[in-house]
Amino acid sequence: MKIQQADKGWQNWSGSQQAHPQIFQPQHMNELQKIVKSYNHIRVVGAGHSFSAVAKTDKLLLNLDQLKGVVAFDEDKTQCTVQAGTRLYELGEALAPINQALINQGDIDQQSLAGAIATGTHGTGADLPCLSAFVEGFELLTADGERLQCDPRQNIDIFQAGRVALGSLGVLTKITLQNRPRYKLKEQIRLCPIQEIFAHIDQWKQQHRHIEFWTFIHSDLVMLKTLDETDETIQPRTESWPSEDALLTLCSELTRKLPATNPYLQKLLGVFVKPTCYVDWSHRIFPTPRNTKFNEMEYQIPVEQGLQCLEEVLATLRKHKVPMFFPIEFRYVKEDNIWLSPFYQRDSVSISIHQFYKQDYHAIFDLVEPILQKYQGRPHWGKLHSMSAASLCDLYPKWDEFMALRQQLDPQQKWLNPYLKQLFLF
Ligand SMILES: Cc1cc2nc3c(=O)[nH]c(=O)nc-3n(C[C@H](O)[C@H](O)[C@H](O)COP(=O)(O)OP(=O)(O)OC[C@H]3O[C@@H](n4cnc5c(N)ncnc54)[C@H](O)[C@@H]3O)c2cc1C
Repeated sequence: MKIQQADKGWQNWSGSQQAHPQIFQPQHMNELQKIVKSYNHIRVVGAGHSFSAVAKTDKLLLNLDQLKGVVAFDEDKTQCTVQAGTRLYELGEALAPINQALINQGDIDQQSLAGAIATGTHGTGADLPCLSAFVEGFELLTADGERLQCDPRQNIDIFQAGRVALGSLGVLTKITLQNRPRYKLKEQIRLCPIQEIFAHIDQWKQQHRHIEFWTFIHSDLVMLKTLDETDETIQPRTESWPSEDALLTLCSELTRKLPATNPYLQKLLGVFVKPTCYVDWSHRIFPTPRNTKFNEMEYQIPVEQGLQCLEEVLATLRKHKVPMFFPIEFRYVKEDNIWLSPFYQRDSVSISIHQFYKQDYHAIFDLVEPILQKYQGRPHWGKLHSMSAASLCDLYPKWDEFMALRQQLDPQQKWLNPYLKQLFLF
């Protein structure tokens, strides 16, 4: 077994979390079991795309990139069983030949399946829940190296808790997903006056399978995106010039160096953003390239109060003239019944604030966070926030049950890093 000391250390996607762990990538299940039994402090990392310190450790970091691929599928139920290290982009391509596709996805596909599930990763769609809600069962490697099958018939509590568990119950090794036959989506993006959004989005969210928008602090126009199922012929996405990423980087750099330019740059939105329309298989339409790095905070707000909360966030950011070019993203997510899911028994909107990775995000996130919390917001587990056990426990009706189960499965705290201790322990 080759355990590496990461020479240059480890860092997450945006570079905001850094550590100096030993890193181990098991080639087989036996190796994974052996290592889990012999180390006292372990974190598992997927693609390292979480902004928060959920995966960070200076002890042993396990990565399942070598344990990937579809291991079984059920044609009649349209389900598949996948090794946990599989990246979402690999899964999309692997499912297509067996006429299956994920029911919903977020706006990138770089994450590992287990990492996406562990944090409640979601896309948008008023009738569509987060990815974890499509999990029909999983295999969990516990702290003492035992392999447990968890689903609605066996180890039911672990199944209810383990679909969003931040890697705190053990290592997910195999995951069974409910999929659907593969389908094409039509993506349409256009600019839309913000007043129209406030007037019509409640109706539009019922008319489109997926709807989301990005609103800029100093523009009356928002970017509106809809995805709808279609039988139309494929019109693949083409790279525009200048690309969205190039413009985002340029405007973010200008805002960073000359903050006073931000309102003027944002008012030019109409010049650069032209309406687009593409058609392709779902797994090619959901993800968008994200090459301009940023840090992000996101909270899930009860759907009834989403627009009111957004108005307050926008007014606050405008009032403080914050040097932030990135837009605020607004999406819809359906409720589920997973104990620590931010969508537990609550249809939600997700409001996400992004700051360019070269700029300090603390002051901006500090301004916005109390507003999101005032609306009973629950933070995205993979993104930045300042909440800890004392305040989180009131937001989750199943908090105590989850913590009791965690304590029972991991009394020696093998899976807890300092960040998870702050989140879970008083
Ligand atoms: C550019 C970008 C775009 C994003 N877009 C979206 C989006 O559209 N929607 C959304 O909801 N989120 C989004 N995110 C957040 C992202 O989906 C989550 O943070 C997700 O957890 C990242 O997956 P990962 O594989 O990188 O997991 P990591 O960040 O590596 O790990 C996340 C958690 O999963 C645990 N974990 C990983 N593997 C296992 C395993 N095998 N067993 C048990 N636990 C495990 C880790 O311990 C950790 O607690 C985005 C992030 C970025 C950087």
